[in-house]
Amino acid sequence: MHVVKIKENPNVFITNNIYNYLDPEKIYIPIMQEALYKKNDYLYKDTKFLLYNTSISGYITGEKKVYYNKLLVPALEITNDFKENIKSKRRKKNITNKDELIQVLEEYNLIEVAQKIKDLNQIKNLIISSIDDEIYDAKEFIILANYDEEILETIEFLQKVLEVNKATIVTKNTNAKSIKNVKSIIGTYPNIKINLVSDNYLIGYPRFLCEYLNIKEEDTLLISTSLIYDIYQILKGKSILNNIITISGDNVEKSLIINTKLGVSLKELIAKFINIIDKDYEIYLNGYLKGIKIKKIEDIIITREINTIVINKKSKEVEEDCINCGACQRICPLNINVKYCYFHNLNSPKCISCGLCNYICPANLKLKETVKSDQNEKEKY
Ligand code: SF4
Ligand code: SF4
Repeated sequence: MHVVKIKENPNVFITNNIYNYLDPEKIYIPIMQEALYKKNDYLYKDTKFLLYNTSISGYITGEKKVYYNKLLVPALEITNDFKENIKSKRRKKNITNKDELIQVLEEYNLIEVAQKIKDLNQIKNLIISSIDDEIYDAKEFIILANYDEEILETIEFLQKVLEVNKATIVTKNTNAKSIKNVKSIIGTYPNIKINLVSDNYLIGYPRFLCEYLNIKEEDTLLISTSLIYDIYQILKGKSILNNIITISGDNVEKSLIINTKLGVSLKELIAKFINIIDKDYEIYLNGYLKGIKIKKIEDIIITREINTIVINKKSKEVEEDCINCGACQRICPLNINVKYCYFHNLNSPKCISCGLCNYICPANLKLKETVKSDQNEKEKY
């Protein structure tokens, strides 16, 4: 199995606290089809939109282009009236079987997990992953540490509805001390256990995690801790209008986990919470290794797909000539001939953008950017 210990900057430390940003001045909602609304219309909190519902109430004050799913799309700008006006409150969900669960997950835009449940004929293993694979990321683990009771209660509910006897929470052994509380209450849930896994990169990738746990991927429903927490909120009759993200890196004074309203501008969020040390920096969206380096933050808004923002000092490493060491192919978990692809400007559909080739290359070549299949990603951001 291809898992690797990645060196982290020991000065980057993320505390267990979750900070809130629940009163932004403005939010943005991408509109994928003809807008139903126009400037000066009033929107209640939780008004339905295709991608996510409005996380605040207020008037539409303008329009701007933002990135959604790697595309620059028009979005409505909503200015907060700080009243949190809701037209009709949601009720607690009473779900008794798999079909009802799928229906509710779809209603709340948790399409991916709904599809996963539909695709699995029989669920033999329910795995809750609290693994933050990326360096400078701690979101999944900190959600587990902060919302332990909510997570355990929801896992037990899923076991009942999906008819799965055993469930396993998986987290890295480096987190063992910080989940003391989870360990102390898990005794009241006899069918849920904790499995501590090695602190190696890519162990959180579903294929490798199943291999590590010696279970079959096709029998397994693997859900992240953050998604379990979303399901918990739905069951309690709350909409998913927030996202919990990590902002960290070797160029921030203090790394934070922030619970923010959806649709907030990344630029505003950083200005509000983060002290950047060196003015010469680079930002990565969704991880330093797997993520994308972004050129400008103005057009990035917090959507459900954003988990991590890494702000690092600008790399001073210069690209050098390839020394034919072969390390890139040896480390590639998909055994791609990385060097060949790079020098022939080829991408590989097998590439999972893990970034290990970049990490290992002694010549500092940006191999992943050439080999990954979605090459346009880089230019678009
Ligand atoms: S080629 Fe793709 S899958 Fe292979 S190491 Fe590089 S980024 Fe990872
Ligand atoms: S790791 Fe870098 S230097 Fe080594 S063979 Fe691959 S491209 Fe060349």
